[in-house]
Amino acid sequence: MVLEDYRSKSFWLATTEYTEEPHLEGDLTVDIAIVGGGFAGNSAAYHIKKLDPGAEVAVLEAQVVGYGASGRNGGFSMTVFGVSLSVTHMLHGEEKTREAYAYMVDAVEYLDRLVREHNLQCDYERSGFLRVATTESYVRHIQKELDLAERIGFTGVEWWDRGRVQDEVHSEVFLGGWWEPRCALVHPAKLVRELKRIAKEQGARIYERTPVLSVNKVGKKIELQTPYGRVQADRVIFATNAWSHLFPWIRRRQIPAWTYMVATDPLTDAQWEAVGWSKRMGIEDARNLIHYFRPSPDGRLLMGGGPVGIGFGGNMNYDRNPKVFRHLETFLKTLFPQLREVRVSYQWGGPFSVTLDMVPAVGYAKDPRVIYNVGCIGHGVSLMPSNGRILADLALDRKTGLTDLWFVNRKGLAWPPEPLRLLLSWKVRTYLALEDFWRERKGLGR
Ligand SMILES: Cc1cc2nc3c(=O)[nH]c(=O)nc-3n(C[C@H](O)[C@H](O)[C@H](O)COP(=O)(O)OP(=O)(O)OC[C@H]3O[C@@H](n4cnc5c(N)ncnc54)[C@H](O)[C@@H]3O)c2cc1C
Repeated sequence: MVLEDYRSKSFWLATTEYTEEPHLEGDLTVDIAIVGGGFAGNSAAYHIKKLDPGAEVAVLEAQVVGYGASGRNGGFSMTVFGVSLSVTHMLHGEEKTREAYAYMVDAVEYLDRLVREHNLQCDYERSGFLRVATTESYVRHIQKELDLAERIGFTGVEWWDRGRVQDEVHSEVFLGGWWEPRCALVHPAKLVRELKRIAKEQGARIYERTPVLSVNKVGKKIELQTPYGRVQADRVIFATNAWSHLFPWIRRRQIPAWTYMVATDPLTDAQWEAVGWSKRMGIEDARNLIHYFRPSPDGRLLMGGGPVGIGFGGNMNYDRNPKVFRHLETFLKTLFPQLREVRVSYQWGGPFSVTLDMVPAVGYAKDPRVIYNVGCIGHGVSLMPSNGRILADLALDRKTGLTDLWFVNRKGLAWPPEPLRLLLSWKVRTYLALEDFWRERKGLGR
């Protein structure tokens, strides 16, 4: 695995100072090894040490903490589980959707508590979330989702009509929306590094630039080979999300897909006035292949989403996609013609994890010594810090309300091997894109 200049991987990583942790030096024996230093890996380390201060825990991160999706994302702490409320409902039924959304409401609240309890310096703003309809068809779609939310007892959301939305954010294309004030925005690279800080403070060891090259069962132990030494552990947590197909035992549980983002230059006061947005909420549209928008802490407009990239086999080299970058810039200026002179100064992308049945999956990989956590489906800012609690319970053999959740230890559907995997993922993406196309067939803003 090549050691990379992580700063090129996102606007957040490029613009935030960071001092790296040293890599592993020599062999090491621990109780629990965690592969991957994103939100999930650091949160799991923190929670394990909190529950069992005597446990020896090491996080092994191939590059630096936050190199993966955790240091590249939009920073929306939100309640979406899987693709969307209606897709989860269609695929998994009402009872499971109810339980999943209760978990996600708790995940958003839990992140809020963590931020306050540990004074996490991550530019946290509880500024709410607005899902906007950009066509009449999406108006009907969002209203149906609101009806479904009410039916499953998912409260704290309301309908904003066109006037209310346009008073708040000045785009002629926005026809109404789902308003959810509980949601928040974070600086994701700061958040993941702050999770590392609290894991370290609890006593977890963190090794950066320490890629796990191979994993083997050796007697009762799991042995992880790195370029600098071997780690032997009683338990291993693969907190590798979109990279998880590269490891034995969990190869077929997920595939990676790529989403892309752009950031403008900082807007002037006059430009911000022209778009409104005084509440500084996160905004998404109502597509399956969503577009998402947010103000940055330093006054830029960030936007991501639209076409999603699909990879082949073990290739993870899809972080840049000029066609999607052009799409994002054009779309941004379609929504906000008042910003047509604004320059885009950062472009980046990153992988998220997709399970075959489009919802997160956590559990033991047949062998209780091996634990996995996959399937964020692009929504992991609140989910993964919270899943760290589940991972800790599993690693410590604790049976709790969290480990009883239906998406924990369920019989996961396995993705087929290549080239069938590519064909199937292409079909899923085409289905989602066709539905979006149909809802936009008469053009935006109508
Ligand atoms: C562009 C983008 C925008 C997004 N926007 C949002 C958003 O606004 N809101 C939201 O909720 N979600 C969003 N997501 C999803 C969210 O970022 C992820 O769900 C979340 O960060 C996943 O965290 P994680 O810890 O599971 O995985 P990651 O952060 O991906 O961490 C996995 C880690 O494993 C490491 N690793 C891989 N292989 C090895 C190895 N061999 N040895 C050691 N380490 C290894 C990687 O380097 C990586 O650091 C977005 C994702 C992307 C890509």
